[in-house]
Amino acid sequence: MNLLPQRFIFRFGFASQTSTFKGNYPCSIPSHGRRKFSATTLSLATPKSGEELLLVVGGGAAGIYGAIRAKTLAPNLKVVVIEKARPLSKVKISGGGRCNVTNGHCPDNKILAEQYPRGHKEFKGSFFHTHGPMDTMSWFSDHGVVLKIEEDGRVFPASDSSSTIIDCLMSEAKRSGVLLQTGKVVTSASSTADGKFAIKLEKRSLDYVEHVEADYLLIASGSSKQGYNLATQLGHSILEPVPSLFTFKIDDLKLAELSGVTFPKVKAKLQLEGIQKKIPQLTQVGPMLVTHWGLSGPVVLRLSAWGARYLSSSNYKGTLCVDFTPDLPIEDLKSALTRHKSQFLVIHSMT
Ligand SMILES: Cc1cc2nc3c(=O)[nH]c(=O)nc-3n(C[C@H](O)[C@H](O)[C@H](O)COP(=O)(O)OP(=O)(O)OC[C@H]3O[C@@H](n4cnc5c(N)ncnc54)[C@H](O)[C@@H]3O)c2cc1C
Repeated sequence: MNLLPQRFIFRFGFASQTSTFKGNYPCSIPSHGRRKFSATTLSLATPKSGEELLLVVGGGAAGIYGAIRAKTLAPNLKVVVIEKARPLSKVKISGGGRCNVTNGHCPDNKILAEQYPRGHKEFKGSFFHTHGPMDTMSWFSDHGVVLKIEEDGRVFPASDSSSTIIDCLMSEAKRSGVLLQTGKVVTSASSTADGKFAIKLEKRSLDYVEHVEADYLLIASGSSKQGYNLATQLGHSILEPVPSLFTFKIDDLKLAELSGVTFPKVKAKLQLEGIQKKIPQLTQVGPMLVTHWGLSGPVVLRLSAWGARYLSSSNYKGTLCVDFTPDLPIEDLKSALTRHKSQFLVIHSMT
């Protein structure tokens, strides 16, 4: 997993001496598998003089890693992660339970950035330069995780278990002094006149509301709509997200009969309704798999990722043209077929 840093980090005005985090609540941390974690108590009612607070919304990979990083760079900062459910729950299921940590075959950050359908311009800049895949690998190695690089470049913990990654992140969070509160939802955020963040926390099951003032706010809420709402409340505009990395459902009984057949290399081209111009991203080359509901495999996943916005704007309607012999010139293919046909006819006429 390439640990992407925060989605938004806000810093308004100057440092505060008067953080008012009301409450002193115990924090319960659910254990993943065999991991045991003792409860940490937040003691924010009486902030130390000059102490600043970073509030992190979301205890996923981005939030926990961002919190650790902030605490490492600024040890005097109070860092509190608010997680409404279980921390790192997506990491648990990532990579089929093994957690694909990053890419180990692409040390060139520029080339790597080009593999991202969206955001590659930003990745090309300071993003990967500040923290690229090699930094991710070094970080985990330095924190006791033995990694392995598979033939295709994917990096996994040698244990083949995502729990190794979770344990590492959770124990480093604890060691560095990151505080975690689960079961609370950040429901609103606004900026105050003195350049801080007024944040409202709620517990869904109880009639419970808590108001917090933070110096910094890191929204690391994944694809949660709530997170987008928080950013909107603070004046950001959100590009409507669209699905990506999906397989194609194609209603064709002939395809269903071929379910399970794989093609090592095809050239697939999408012609979408309402999109006339030639878009290079809508043509992809790679392996394809026929499933009982349509088509899948790397070539289809790539089309869905690179064509995500075009697919959405065409309402997912169009034509898919597949060249099953992309490396064979059409004339060579014709003569191969003719040869095959005459051979087939001869055999038949002899029997
Ligand atoms: C099946 C599957 C397999 C995957 N495999 C891989 C893989 O092998 N390698 C890889 O790199 N990526 C993989 N991914 C993608 C990867 O899991 C995600 O990109 C990554 O976990 C996103 O991390 P995040 O911290 O940004 O968001 P999330 O993991 O979604 O974390 C956001 C957290 O914020 C919390 N939250 C949201 N709103 C609020 C709020 N208002 N208040 C409090 N808490 C809130 C949520 O409960 C959640 O825990 C996989 C994803 C899936 C679904």
